[in-house]
Amino acid sequence: MDVIDLFKQDLSFSVEAEWSKSNLVNNRDISIAVLRSFILKRHEEYAARSRKAGPGDTTLSAQAKYKEPKVLEALAASGLRAIRYAVEVDGIGEVTAVDNNEAAVEACKKNIQHNGSLASSKVVPHHADARVYMLTHPKEFDVVDLDPYGSPAAFLDSAVQCVADGGILMCSATDMAVLAGGNAEVCFSKYGSYPLRGKHCHEMALRILLACIESHAIRHKRYIVPIISVHMDFYIRVFVRIFTSASTVKSSPLKLAHVYQCTGCNSFYLQNIGRIHSKDKENIAVPNFRLTLPEVCSECGHQFVMGGPLWSYPIHDKVWAASILSDIHAMREAYPAYPKISAILSSVSEELLEAPLFVSLHNLCAILKCTTPTMVMLQCAIRNAGYQVSGSHVDPLALKTDAPMSVIWDIMRCWVKLHPVKHRPGNHPGNVILSQEPKFQAKFSRVLGASVTRKRARFMPNPEKYWGPGTKAGRNPRTFQMDNRN
Ligand SMILES: [Zn+2]
Repeated sequence: MDVIDLFKQDLSFSVEAEWSKSNLVNNRDISIAVLRSFILKRHEEYAARSRKAGPGDTTLSAQAKYKEPKVLEALAASGLRAIRYAVEVDGIGEVTAVDNNEAAVEACKKNIQHNGSLASSKVVPHHADARVYMLTHPKEFDVVDLDPYGSPAAFLDSAVQCVADGGILMCSATDMAVLAGGNAEVCFSKYGSYPLRGKHCHEMALRILLACIESHAIRHKRYIVPIISVHMDFYIRVFVRIFTSASTVKSSPLKLAHVYQCTGCNSFYLQNIGRIHSKDKENIAVPNFRLTLPEVCSECGHQFVMGGPLWSYPIHDKVWAASILSDIHAMREAYPAYPKISAILSSVSEELLEAPLFVSLHNLCAILKCTTPTMVMLQCAIRNAGYQVSGSHVDPLALKTDAPMSVIWDIMRCWVKLHPVKHRPGNHPGNVILSQEPKFQAKFSRVLGASVTRKRARFMPNPEKYWGPGTKAGRNPRTFQMDNRN
């Protein structure tokens, strides 16, 4: 807990003072929580491998000794995060802090000296271009942390090659205007996907980043397994494990999908890029059939736009989420941003994994111009219709569900019958939707499990007015500004 950053002191910042504003350290805290969980997992996997091998096994993999995970912080700046990893995470190996700015590397060296023997013995500063460094150290690091100011796209190809088998890539993106649909051309050029505007845009941003990492990984016969993918404050961060398997790579098209979204009512439908085809008792991934959607939206009659491709498989691993959550509960004093990361991980651990993207209660009611039912009422109606439903950590008004859009709209039609809206002339989407009769009678009565019963916060308010990203760090370390994600 005694990490000191000299340059923060020069600027009259102290790490302790920053920690008192817990929202400033969310990113580092969640990374440390994932790292602790990863080290436990590595121990478990090593023990399982040893048990399986048995005492008489003389193969190299069976005889390999357990090694503490090596960490690379690829864009380290003054090295504060690398030092925190070394000082705070038990069982961690060497932490290499790479930066391409000579002054930043000098700053990192001084910070290491001033943070005790543990930092000095574990953190190794290095002046290099992160891309070249990662390319020249293939599969060498168990953990690679990429936290650029902006897009990580330029670093992904070398990063996926640098992670050891079963290792973890931690990757942030702060170019949310691009990823969330504000600049679709730039998103396509950087990430190879078209984003779509909508309430689910931040989850779509996570899925575009995951699809992009996967597309880089499969070029090197590797694939990703997401552990946790979060949207926090004004950026996204994903934690994925990377494995090598030429046969698994072949099924990558099954994990990617295009999204068709109605321009009138925002109904959306996913179409996987690939499908399974069984041939000679073998399942192979082949191009999917053409889209089965009608030419225009069957709810409101408007055209569809196509976005993606995006990652359509689960974006979290619930077992990991639960393990990380129990770790941060047990060590809450060790996490300055405990309230925030605990809220996010609680929400993450409850998310429905089989339902990519979500509908927004706000959006449904805005289209129909009707009074708003409570989240619990709508969740009950979806459950009563025989489908699963959950919230999402990215939006308090999100409904993630496996119910088709037609069922959601029928539930809303039933709601409007109970709470009539004023008739408005015209052919806008709400009128067209309400002109159709629902195909079943929705029940809004309470069912068990539809509401959040545990009194634990899922969303935290912003810490101050005009909360948002800081300015980009300058070239001179004396002018380094704390970006809000430190
Ligand atoms: Zn529509």
